[in-house]
Amino acid sequence: MALSGVELAKTYLSDPSINGAYAKGGYKLDPWTGDDFTFGHLLRDGKVPKFKCQSKTKVDTVIVGGGMAGLACAYNLKDQSYLLLDQYDNLGGQSRSGTYSGMDFSYGPAYMSEPEGDVAELMQYANVTAAKLESSKNSFYWGDKWHHGVEGLSDAKLQSQLDQIRQDTKKVLFNKKNDGAEWFAEDPDARALDQVSLGSYLKSYDKDFVKLLDNFCKSALCVGTEKTSALSGFVLLEDLYHTSYVAPGGNPGVAKALAQKLVAQRPDSFKRGVFVWSIELKDDGAKIIYGDKKGRHHEVECKHVAIAIPHMVTARITKNMNNDLKGRLLQYKYGSYLVANLCLKKPVFEGSYDNWLGGTHTVADVITAESPYKVAGTYKPEMGQVLTVYMPYEPNSIGRGLLFQGDRKKLAEDTLKEVSSVSSELMANLDRVVLSRWGHALAVTAPKMYENNAYLLKNDNDVFSFAHSSVQGIPCIEGAVEAGKRAAMKALKKKAQTKTLFSIA
Ligand SMILES: Cc1cc2nc3c(=O)[nH]c(=O)nc-3n(C[C@H](O)[C@H](O)[C@H](O)COP(=O)(O)OP(=O)(O)OC[C@H]3O[C@@H](n4cnc5c(N)ncnc54)[C@H](O)[C@@H]3O)c2cc1C
Repeated sequence: MALSGVELAKTYLSDPSINGAYAKGGYKLDPWTGDDFTFGHLLRDGKVPKFKCQSKTKVDTVIVGGGMAGLACAYNLKDQSYLLLDQYDNLGGQSRSGTYSGMDFSYGPAYMSEPEGDVAELMQYANVTAAKLESSKNSFYWGDKWHHGVEGLSDAKLQSQLDQIRQDTKKVLFNKKNDGAEWFAEDPDARALDQVSLGSYLKSYDKDFVKLLDNFCKSALCVGTEKTSALSGFVLLEDLYHTSYVAPGGNPGVAKALAQKLVAQRPDSFKRGVFVWSIELKDDGAKIIYGDKKGRHHEVECKHVAIAIPHMVTARITKNMNNDLKGRLLQYKYGSYLVANLCLKKPVFEGSYDNWLGGTHTVADVITAESPYKVAGTYKPEMGQVLTVYMPYEPNSIGRGLLFQGDRKKLAEDTLKEVSSVSSELMANLDRVVLSRWGHALAVTAPKMYENNAYLLKNDNDVFSFAHSSVQGIPCIEGAVEAGKRAAMKALKKKAQTKTLFSIA
């Protein structure tokens, strides 16, 4: 069934959660942030609008998707002819953020490894500095109390289990070159680790400790130790012992500054609030059709299309891609998240930066948004405290349905109940709650994910490139930057081969 332009325009205006409200308990409950399911669900249900195109343009490269990966692609094409299209008004995708009393907080992505290479270059361009956090950044809720750091802990069992997993991680990753994707390409050991679960390495561990590790994995990968591959699991576990880096507002702080600079440089190269309905691959280029907020459709022809959107959406909107590749794209499973930002009038949560819960908790961890401000010396008491709370839901669990149903009050109450149980002064100081829902948040890093990724990367071509972070393995800013840069290099190669170039009309 097709929708008319007018019907489509109405869907932009029909979101029932546009107004915030005061909830029982006296805190303000903001409207939903995160994913807007409207267009994705029309696409899923085959209700693609009728195409009557109002404009036709030509450009060398189209970048579909303006998350971190799409922005990194744009950065590498900043002196070229390109057009970036994104569904939302604010660029950044999952790397978007809010503000409370002068403090930025993330709707999702939080921290990164030490910025080096391409990430460092991009941060320099965006003029963003990330604060360094030592491995004391982690706390663990264990035996009904918090334990801070990974060394010198008073609980002997927790300490011995942390030491054991540290040793095992070191042993398994002894010859790791760089990240999982690069290592996978070069080393049979990495390929073997991609075939089995992390859980298969944890049989001798204490069961309560494994529950803690389950939440550690779920928070970043959306699946626990039994469902993530040993390759992605061990690479992630290094984060427990390494220093991390955090920008104000988390990784969205980087995306925001980058987007602002790129847009200022070439405003005509960005179309925001537009949904791409179709990517038609041709022998020597591609034709993209997108709809705007007024329900009008536009056509753009290009020499190369960098596809920086999740694989599932790519499979649905791309025409003339061979079925084998489409089949591969559809093999990825997606987990979901509820992320709650709890804005407090004063700091009452006495944790480190990243605070892990295990046991029966469905909250995986709680992050303190003020940490980078404190390290940089820019924190002021009137900023209060923002706790970013992660509630991951594995694929095929009840979570996606709950998020879609969208009962904000119930979800906020459930989250607050859990966090209050580990922070007694929370409710008395709570001012505002901002909930973000991510429906198909992450392509989970199940066994054989790296194998599948390697296949995709081998089979895109001069006309299109897979540019979403998920093609690089663990969902992270480093993977997004790598995916975006690789796509830009393919676009430049295509340009070098092409005699007649398009210019942006
Ligand atoms: C809860 C959560 C916590 C995370 N924590 C971390 C962390 O601490 N550190 C870290 O490094 N990473 C983290 N990540 C991973 C994060 O996903 C990546 O770091 C990165 O932001 C992904 O960027 P991307 O551009 O590949 O994808 P996305 O952010 O998914 O961007 C895709 C873009 O495509 C657009 N789009 C999709 N379909 C269409 C269409 N048809 N038409 C137009 N536009 C479309 C979307 O609007 C979006 O802007 C986290 C993710 C989540 C969800």
